[in-house]
Amino acid sequence: MARAAAGISAAVPDTLDRYPEKLDHQEVLVRRGRRSGLFTIVAVHSTVRGPSLGGCRMWSYDDSRAALRDALRLSRAMTYKAAVADLPLGGGKGVIIVPPAKRLPSERRRAALLDFADTVEALGGRYITAEDVGTSSRDMSVIAQRTSHVAGLARSRGGSGDPSPSTALGVEAAIRASCERAFGSSVLRDRRICVIGLGHVGSRVARRCARAGAKLVLADVDVAKRALADQLSARWANPDRAVESDVDVLVPCALGGFLDHDTVPRLRCKVIAGAANNQLADDGIADLLAAHGILWAPDFVVNAGGLINIAEELDGYDPASARRRVRGIGDTLRKVFDDSASIGATPLTAAMELARRRLGSGL
Ligand code: NAD
Repeated sequence: MARAAAGISAAVPDTLDRYPEKLDHQEVLVRRGRRSGLFTIVAVHSTVRGPSLGGCRMWSYDDSRAALRDALRLSRAMTYKAAVADLPLGGGKGVIIVPPAKRLPSERRRAALLDFADTVEALGGRYITAEDVGTSSRDMSVIAQRTSHVAGLARSRGGSGDPSPSTALGVEAAIRASCERAFGSSVLRDRRICVIGLGHVGSRVARRCARAGAKLVLADVDVAKRALADQLSARWANPDRAVESDVDVLVPCALGGFLDHDTVPRLRCKVIAGAANNQLADDGIADLLAAHGILWAPDFVVNAGGLINIAEELDGYDPASARRRVRGIGDTLRKVFDDSASIGATPLTAAMELARRRLGSGL
């Protein structure tokens, strides 16, 4: 996944103070790599339903607390994501902290991946790694030289390959289920949809929505992505103002943590359903969204397609079966919306309750 990727929580010190991070994890391992000298972190949130699985994020952080916060938050989200998708997996996440503002020379990068592999191996299978922001399936092959606890290898190596097409398929299913709930129809023809972030997932979601006849607004900090807008006859929006677009559905496929007390009052959409991880600055923002009459589809339900696809590797990878299960995200979301209506709580609370029921008393 490209390094430009975002999905990074905007974890600057201000955010760290404003939205404190809970520690409810099974174990957290922080090690300095003997080859690269770089720090690697693995957070194992839960192994109650099976080994924890989550991507390896290679990123430069302004502050080591921000790196730890990413590992803690993302691993917790993986526990909920796997439980709601009913997978025999727990939640974990890996981070490799790289120096700011420069590209790592390839030898040091390789050294960092091998150091990270040692950290994974030290956990004896309680954590399985995969690709994430800043790493690719090729990097997984390097990690596989030191540990067998790695998923998401290239198709040519018997793995499930790039998870993004599956994630995009699941996001489309989620958009349709959310539109059905908010507007009484899952048909996307003439539905006004704004996709923010046109990377691996967002570009595919945009193409899917365009094929279904939606009226698209597209935004990305990378102006080269404007070519996709032209190709799909979509309107281009300034990325700073895209969240304020006057559309039916907002589809965040870039930044995490962007829904907070400042942005929510500026929203003009009725539905939010996108791939970006950890969209809410904190859980209380789910109530704020509901108070503004916005249906927010929980990110960890919407973006589970990549994980569902990787989980297929556990029983021998079958692409058709993986696609069928990924489309099931629409049904899962319908259940979450039904539960939310019947208990009179937000979809976030309903999704977390569903996960907690599946996790039993182990969480
Ligand atoms: P990517 O790096 O391929 O794409 C991200 C895109 O967002 C890039 O084009 C980048 O230029 C753009 N961007 C960055 N900051 C932006 C901003 N402020 N405004 C507008 N655009 C911005 O990443 P991806 O693989 O497409 O993942 C997108 C999001 O979905 C991330 O949050 C990721 O954690 C999450 N996610 C991805 C997968 C997957 O299978 N790839 C699975 C689950 C969740």
